[in-house]
Amino acid sequence: MLQLNAWKPGIGPAETKVRPAVVRPSSLIELRGVTKVYGKGQAAVQALKGIDLRVNRGDFVAVMGHSGSGKSTCMNILGCLDTPTAGNYFFEGVDVGRLARDQRALLRRHYLGFVFQGFNLLQRTSALENVELPLIYRGLPVKQRKEKARQALASVGLSGWEHHTPSELSGGQMQRVAIARAIVSEPQLLLADEPTGNLDSARSKEIMELIVRLNRERRLTIVMVTHEADMAAYARRQVHFVDGQIEWVQTF
Ligand code: ADP
Ligand code: MG
Repeated sequence: MLQLNAWKPGIGPAETKVRPAVVRPSSLIELRGVTKVYGKGQAAVQALKGIDLRVNRGDFVAVMGHSGSGKSTCMNILGCLDTPTAGNYFFEGVDVGRLARDQRALLRRHYLGFVFQGFNLLQRTSALENVELPLIYRGLPVKQRKEKARQALASVGLSGWEHHTPSELSGGQMQRVAIARAIVSEPQLLLADEPTGNLDSARSKEIMELIVRLNRERRLTIVMVTHEADMAAYARRQVHFVDGQIEWVQTF
């Protein structure tokens, strides 16, 4: 059951637990009839035209499709960065659309991890401090925070690199720092938008092997956007978007 204010006193309504609307124990997230329209009238763009998608706990899904097919819109909804125009998004059976804004922010902070193509690290800040950031928002004491950040960096193979800044790291290492930052708060779901888009093929392979290991060893559920078949091949399931709809799904 989702706990949406247990960590951060003073935020959100007094409700501590949000009861699931539907109980499907194995399904971590579910989209039902999700549509998204940007703009109004003649200028309206229907980015998603009724998406149904279920992702089980521990699954690894690659989202594929041409530019403009709705992949990022779908990821933004899954990441609670945007809301559907119609339809429902369930997280652990809880209808996300019914959560208060603060609760959605907590869901994002405590259950989700994000990895982007451009790494999105703070530049003049050490690897360790970058990884510590999500824990600062959680109000964890300094010592615990540093220890957890160190462990996360070790788990992505960056022991000894704690005090280097992004400018002293390679692209592959920067993406490792970003992955450490995404997993340091022990999320349930990792959302990755083209995580290897800025990397050469050797570095891409290393990052994909790391993501696969996180999926297997931690049972971290992963949804990853990619338009490269080589990268999608690491996933257990491929979901293909065409013009705002899921055209086909392939399971391996
Ligand atoms: P993808 O990530 O697959 O390239 P997007 O989800 O970014 O696709 O975009 C889907 C469609 O929605 C495109 O036609 C795009 O132009 C449009 N779109 C995306 N974001 C916005 C926005 N903020 N405002 C208006 N149109 C948007
Ligand atoms: Mg996109």
